[in-house]
Amino acid sequence: MEQKALILVVEDEDKIRTALTDFLEFHGFGVTEAADGMEADRAAAAGRFDLILLDLMLPKISGEQLCRKWRRDGMQTPIIMLTAKGREKERVSGLNLGADDYITKPFSLEELLARINAVLRRTDPGRAVGQTFEFGDLDVDIAALKIKRREKEIEITRREAGIIQHFAANPNRVISREELYKEVWNETMSELGTRTVDMHIAKLRSKIERDAADPQIIKTVRGAGYKHES
Ligand code: CA
Repeated sequence: MEQKALILVVEDEDKIRTALTDFLEFHGFGVTEAADGMEADRAAAAGRFDLILLDLMLPKISGEQLCRKWRRDGMQTPIIMLTAKGREKERVSGLNLGADDYITKPFSLEELLARINAVLRRTDPGRAVGQTFEFGDLDVDIAALKIKRREKEIEITRREAGIIQHFAANPNRVISREELYKEVWNETMSELGTRTVDMHIAKLRSKIERDAADPQIIKTVRGAGYKHES
């Protein structure tokens, strides 16, 4: 049996916290609760979690401070922030601080579950291939967003890193644009999605392929998508 994913739920409002815990446990997650920032920090230091649900407005230490501290300390556990409605600034700063996603209160539990599963899926390839790995004739360092070919260093964006991770974790398999868009962008496919994926692949190829016109690391499979052979 697959091991339960463990979630740290950080929320100071008792009713919401209890409801979240019940719901997540019902759906097969293991849950640890924290009712304020101090508790959360202690729990995060003591345990290993697959994901953290982090309320932004917390007593003692705010969610924002926590997120910043954890990322500064090198913690890579995915974080979904719970933000209050209409606080656009919070969202933006939450994502800048290193949260993986955010959800605005009030939210439906079904929506939250979908987000949790999407984040866990998205972070899985990273775990599967680790933070540093070989990709074609390149050495990839995901945390540093850097790629090396011999002594030449190439900088990549977080999105490009996500694309590389997905290919590296799924070698020798045709990956459709739809799959890539779902896994890397966490979006359902649309016409815009097709263009977005193709544009990012083209840009990435210009960075990593020796000859972008004849790509060897990420190949095109006509009518089907892309493939990385290893
Ligand atoms: Ca709160």
